[in-house]
Amino acid sequence: MRAEKVEEKEVEPRYVSKTKEREVEAKTKGRCSYNGCNKPIEEKHHEPAYALSHNHKGLMGMCKVHHEFRHNGVGKKLSSID
Ligand SMILES: [Zn+2]
Ligand SMILES: [Zn+2]
Repeated sequence: MRAEKVEEKEVEPRYVSKTKEREVEAKTKGRCSYNGCNKPIEEKHHEPAYALSHNHKGLMGMCKVHHEFRHNGVGKKLSSID
């Protein structure tokens, strides 16, 4: 009898550790990862969304404006790490 093959996707808890946050910030030297934007990181964004990936591999730092822009939400309230 073979063990059932589990999905190999890495699953991490929704909570983003400080270590992970610093790692993400270091990747873009503390700057928004939006092309050409040089503002400091204010929020963290998941791409693909955490709801789909269940890990933080796609986590990126963004300024508030570009984070909202990324979700094309105008006036849409977002949590700071969505
Ligand atoms: Zn986001
Ligand atoms: Zn930006």
